[in-house]
Amino acid sequence: MKYRQIERRISKAVNVGGITIGAGAPISIQSMTTTQTADVKATLEQINRLAEAGCDLVRVAVATKQDAAALSEIVAASPVPIIADVHFNFERALEAIRAGAHKIRLNPGTISDRQAVRTIIEACKDAHIPIRVGVNEGSVIYRFNQVRREKQFARPLDEIMVEAIEEYLEIFHECNFSDLVLSAKSHDAATTIAVNRELARRYDYPLHLGLTHAGTVRTGSVRSICAVATLLAEGIGDTIRISLAGDPVEEVALAKELLAALRLREPEEVEIIACPTCGRTTADVAAIADQLRQALVDIKQHITVAVMGCVVNGPGEAGQVDVALCCGKNNASIFREGKFVRTVPMEKVIDEMITEVRKVADSRKVRK
Ligand code: SF4
Repeated sequence: MKYRQIERRISKAVNVGGITIGAGAPISIQSMTTTQTADVKATLEQINRLAEAGCDLVRVAVATKQDAAALSEIVAASPVPIIADVHFNFERALEAIRAGAHKIRLNPGTISDRQAVRTIIEACKDAHIPIRVGVNEGSVIYRFNQVRREKQFARPLDEIMVEAIEEYLEIFHECNFSDLVLSAKSHDAATTIAVNRELARRYDYPLHLGLTHAGTVRTGSVRSICAVATLLAEGIGDTIRISLAGDPVEEVALAKELLAALRLREPEEVEIIACPTCGRTTADVAAIADQLRQALVDIKQHITVAVMGCVVNGPGEAGQVDVALCCGKNNASIFREGKFVRTVPMEKVIDEMITEVRKVADSRKVRK
């Protein structure tokens, strides 16, 4: 069976410390540290945890001179490229560039002085690093005020965000600077979708997708996935961040699941799917799936495993995945690479499934 592949919008390519964003490159996953950047040890610990979880690029806040001073040590020791997030003081951007940051994020709402922006652009040109122009709902207040003065009430937020980016980009175009990534984030999913559709229509810069102040894990996940998945399914988006109030490592796990679900990125791990169960099963499908996930975490290959509660969809699903389990009353049937292998008693399903998944992993290693 052949699943549909999403056709992606092709943008310009932007290089961030060796990671390509745009031009059809794999969609990269970003997150942001929550530590005080000046605390080098804590920040590097979090960066290492994020990188281990599969984060491709990490952004750090550069709010103070001390943060900027810490950056060179952080950049040198980080396993992934580092993006400096700068607001209000353009000097912090210059210090971050000198410290070796691989990209600078600027917000039109917080650094708007044209000469200051030009100075940052020239420094980025000299350092050969890109800039993300990132508009956030909370920081386009200045445009709201302008729109109000012009008595254009009830204008949709997405239009105002596009205008804010358009106006800011004039400075970059005057400086002949096109090494840019754009983003526009609202906490509202529909607004984020609308603004990014318009940016994709107007510009050929790569787009960074995400929401701002999306919420804690449950609310933030649902809001983010509504917006980011809708855009990705339309082919829009080159790098993503799922913003959650909480441990940023959660953001990376969610982003990986999202990209895998849309077949935009093949996971380098065992992917376990499970049926939702119903009155036909007597097995604890969720517990079996969880135990398998934990037991197979060391395998860094994309192997698909299905845990099915009964034979209704089980044999059909077995043909689509590498290893499948169809639970029965007291025993379960195991399939490997579409073929029935054997029936095992329920108490042995975990061990037997682990054996079969490891056989697939070993055979692929040999084939490589
Ligand atoms: S596979 Fe079987 S147990 Fe699972 S949801 Fe479908 S019918 Fe129910």
